[in-house]
Amino acid sequence: MDAIKIFAPATIANVSCGFDVLGLCLDAVGDEMIISKTAEKGVKISKIVGQNLPLETENNVAGVAVLALLEKYGEVDCGFDIEIYKKIKPGSGIGSSAASSAGAVYGVNKLLGEPFTLSELIPFAMEGERLASGNAHADNVAPALLGGFTLVRSYDPLDVIKLHSPSELYATVIHPKIEIKTADSRAVLKDTVSLKQTVTQLGNLGGLISGLYSEDYNLIGRSLQDVIVEPLRSVLIPNFDKVKEFAKEAGALGGSISGSGPSIFALSKGKETAEKVAIAMAKAYENLDIEFDTYVSKLNPEGNKIID
Ligand code: ADP
Repeated sequence: MDAIKIFAPATIANVSCGFDVLGLCLDAVGDEMIISKTAEKGVKISKIVGQNLPLETENNVAGVAVLALLEKYGEVDCGFDIEIYKKIKPGSGIGSSAASSAGAVYGVNKLLGEPFTLSELIPFAMEGERLASGNAHADNVAPALLGGFTLVRSYDPLDVIKLHSPSELYATVIHPKIEIKTADSRAVLKDTVSLKQTVTQLGNLGGLISGLYSEDYNLIGRSLQDVIVEPLRSVLIPNFDKVKEFAKEAGALGGSISGSGPSIFALSKGKETAEKVAIAMAKAYENLDIEFDTYVSKLNPEGNKIID
């Protein structure tokens, strides 16, 4: 195999009570990438379509992630060319940079004959995240690479667990086209949380994970509550409470901020409900002078995949 075309999925990090630990992979939204072996050595980003992003290997998360992989792999007798067809807008909160980082290492690993497992690719993709945000976090690249729901149990040592994904779970996402500065979304967070908040959050996280395994949608809905971060960050997103309220009225199990925003997600049982939720979420934005996109997606159990 000398070339590969892949679907590089969008992801939701900070899944409600799973702030910084729980992520999930989407199916209906993602980039495409074509990765080819070249006679000339080195890693080249030859084309980016859809967004204005850096082409220099060292300034593009895809390039940085592949360089990290090759450093570990050692001597290789070819180079790699990467084309990125960008559908996920950077800064939207659904893992734009992670899609490129994870997609690039997934594709190069395939072309090399899969010397690394999907879990072993996570640290390489994290180097792309370090470039994008200054922090080598795994909460988007892990679900992009492993698919489904993932839990980052620990960073030192890195321990990422793929959780069970209920078969009828769908996500609805609304992306209001506003910019939230990373500095602002960090500044609203507090350094300390109370014991009461911690206990509530732990109960919900345990309940959510248990609900995923038992496919108990009611328990998933009861557990989708974040008492620590959402109350602080949601003030940065216009009509956040209204979006959530309308989504729940339309049948959503619950929802929260996607990543660090501005996208908001809701989870539902079944496609029909998830589509009704998209209409309801859009209604909460109809009187605001803000453009938005909505997406409805089944949970993607496999992550990156090879396409035609
Ligand atoms: P998201 O939260 O949607 O992942 P980020 O804000 O984390 O988006 O990442 C976007 C940042 O990463 C931008 O500064 C962008 O220029 C940079 N970047 C570099 N390469 C890429 C790439 N291939 N895809 C997306 N963003 C990239």
